[in-house]
Amino acid sequence: MNVPFLDLRAHHAPIRQAISAAVDEVIDSNSFSGGPYVQRFEEAFAKYCGTDHAVGVGNGTDALWLTLLALGIGPGDEVITTPNTFIATAEAISLCGAKPVFIDIDETTHTMDPALIEGAVSPATKAVIPVHLYGQPADMDPIVSVARRHGLFVIEDACQAHGAEYQGRPAGSLGDVACFSFYPSKNLGAMGEGGAVVTADPNLADRLRLLRDHGQSRKYCHEVVGCNARMDGFQGAILNVKLSRLDECNEARRTVAESYRNLMGDLPGIILPLEAPGRRHVYHLYVVRVQDREGFMAHLARENIGCSIHYPVPIHLQKAYAGMGLGPGSFPKSEAVASEVVSLPMFPEMTSEQTEAVAGVVKTWLDGR
Ligand SMILES: *Cc1c(COP(=O)(O)O)cnc(C)c1O
Repeated sequence: MNVPFLDLRAHHAPIRQAISAAVDEVIDSNSFSGGPYVQRFEEAFAKYCGTDHAVGVGNGTDALWLTLLALGIGPGDEVITTPNTFIATAEAISLCGAKPVFIDIDETTHTMDPALIEGAVSPATKAVIPVHLYGQPADMDPIVSVARRHGLFVIEDACQAHGAEYQGRPAGSLGDVACFSFYPSKNLGAMGEGGAVVTADPNLADRLRLLRDHGQSRKYCHEVVGCNARMDGFQGAILNVKLSRLDECNEARRTVAESYRNLMGDLPGIILPLEAPGRRHVYHLYVVRVQDREGFMAHLARENIGCSIHYPVPIHLQKAYAGMGLGPGSFPKSEAVASEVVSLPMFPEMTSEQTEAVAGVVKTWLDGR
């Protein structure tokens, strides 16, 4: 059986008419950049995240970068994050002129190890960016408590965690401010690029609104140097349609994860993702660990099972960050997982036949070693 890594066509089929209608409305109203559909989405998304303000922007990277700028973080400042994430987390820190300071992860959840924050804090540290990787929130209580002790901002990189929860509270409401991406493959995906910043702080939200729109308070009145990072009107309208199905889709992802656990939980030679107590994982990705990754992936490819690696090279070992002089061995846990992780097919529309097919192919590989 052929099981794709992700099936966006199946995802969009049941809402295609609603989306076409939403797109038509945008065309009829000429609200192509920002406008009422974006505003409606911002209101709905802030509420969804259990917070007061959402600012729609061009993508998740803009969300992170503008958040750092809005917090006044720049040259000479340091921001703590992990090297086990998508490049955009570190990129945003570098783009605003600050320095990323990496700390290692907790190997069971692949998220920031809160016990390592204290040792990375310097007089230049301004913020910490925990990443809710693969859809599971980082361990936020200890992270926020160390940050408070040192007067650091907590910025959630929630780009993979729309609808995730920590101790019953939604991702987006767990720090001072949170950044989301609506890249098409994310749990809440646009049909193009999109992102948002959510926060309970009205002044920060106002500042973000200025920055995303050339620093304009009114037309041609520029208070600060900003940029163009407005959300596209089509994306706002489409996200309104898709947000109404997010909970249902996340629930379906959790059901797929549960089936995977039932089918593969007892197999030796593979480590399945762990949902830490008190956290609601929304499985943006279903990431397992195996030792002979190349052999494993070749076997999946032969059997027409889609798979991918998130992420093969930790950020400190990327050429773009070679200037930091952090060689292999700097972050052993991040490096260990990077060499063993494989993402298996995961999308809300996966059928039980598809999950069983994936598990069956995994099992034959493990049996054959
Ligand atoms: C997707 C993603 C981003 C960046 O979002 P874009 O919309 O692609 O710019 C940032 N951080 C993480 C962890 C992501 O997964």
